[in-house]
Amino acid sequence: MKAPNFSYVKPKDLVEVLALLEQHGGSAMPLAGGQSLLAMLNLRLLTPDLLVDIGDLNELKNVAVEQDTVRIGPLVRHVELLRSPLIKQHLPLLSKAIAHVGHVAIRNRGTIGGSLANADPAAELPACVVALGGTLLLESRSGRREVVASEFFKGLMETDLRPGELIVEVRLPKQSTTKRWGFSEISRRHGDFAVVGLVALADIVEGQVSNADLVYFGCADRPKQAMGVSAGLQGCRLPLSKIEWLPDAIQHDLTILDSPGWKAKTKLHIAAVLTKRLLHTMNA
Ligand SMILES: Cc1cc2nc3c(=O)[nH]c(=O)nc-3n(C[C@H](O)[C@H](O)[C@H](O)COP(=O)(O)OP(=O)(O)OC[C@H]3O[C@@H](n4cnc5c(N)ncnc54)[C@H](O)[C@@H]3O)c2cc1C
Repeated sequence: MKAPNFSYVKPKDLVEVLALLEQHGGSAMPLAGGQSLLAMLNLRLLTPDLLVDIGDLNELKNVAVEQDTVRIGPLVRHVELLRSPLIKQHLPLLSKAIAHVGHVAIRNRGTIGGSLANADPAAELPACVVALGGTLLLESRSGRREVVASEFFKGLMETDLRPGELIVEVRLPKQSTTKRWGFSEISRRHGDFAVVGLVALADIVEGQVSNADLVYFGCADRPKQAMGVSAGLQGCRLPLSKIEWLPDAIQHDLTILDSPGWKAKTKLHIAAVLTKRLLHTMNA
């Protein structure tokens, strides 16, 4: 299919972008890497009147470290995150996860801001940003506001973004050097969206787990923290010898539903096995 007709502008600065987004309300959409938006236009799932290409806003392309925080501009591309020594040093979890986002061609154009705004429940970056305790800085002509990542994702491809707002920064606390972390996903082929994925952070001392923070993706309508599973893991020794309780606990936290090609029961089984395996590797 071909995209419906739309107008296109490529403003030179943020002031102009925000003015256009306000002026056109919901009928204008920001265009970043275009890797999701253009596909959705071609499928006619979206019919904006105006695309506001934000690709010239150089102020939104930086990665910087300020005290304990890593500040990432929304236009930083996946490939740049993958190659960034700052990300590797301070956010090794993100560095590992990004290699699973799509394929080379997608990573060469796709941006972190686009991925977060797109809010695909099976995408890697939203889950990482939630697990790492990130905050999003949103700006419109009315001003700026901060939203914690766990509250930014509202449902299936739904976010807290209001008409006229742009993600202008992603702030992530540097990963603690003592906390163990892990990332794993099951997908049909490397680079495909996850069928089930898990991002985990935990204290593990002499094989004993505490303060586990688990965010599953590809399972519910958004990346979800599994508080009940975390509580159940408190004090458990690794490797986990019994995981019979895990599917029920995961289901209680995530409410996995049947989806095309996947029974909820199968996904739950995969999620439980992934949890056991990932924690085991984190203890190595
Ligand atoms: C074949 C294929 C495979 C893929 N596989 C994966 C995968 O395995 N994992 C994965 O996570 N992703 C995958 N993707 C998606 C890819 O990561 C996209 O790059 C990403 O989701 C969107 O980023 P983008 O910069 O291309 O955004 P765009 O496509 O330009 O925009 C996406 C949406 O975000 C909005 N937007 C963009 N930037 C901003 C901003 N700063 N503020 C507010 N709104 C904004 C746009 O208006 C649009 O609604 C895949 C895509 C394709 C085509």
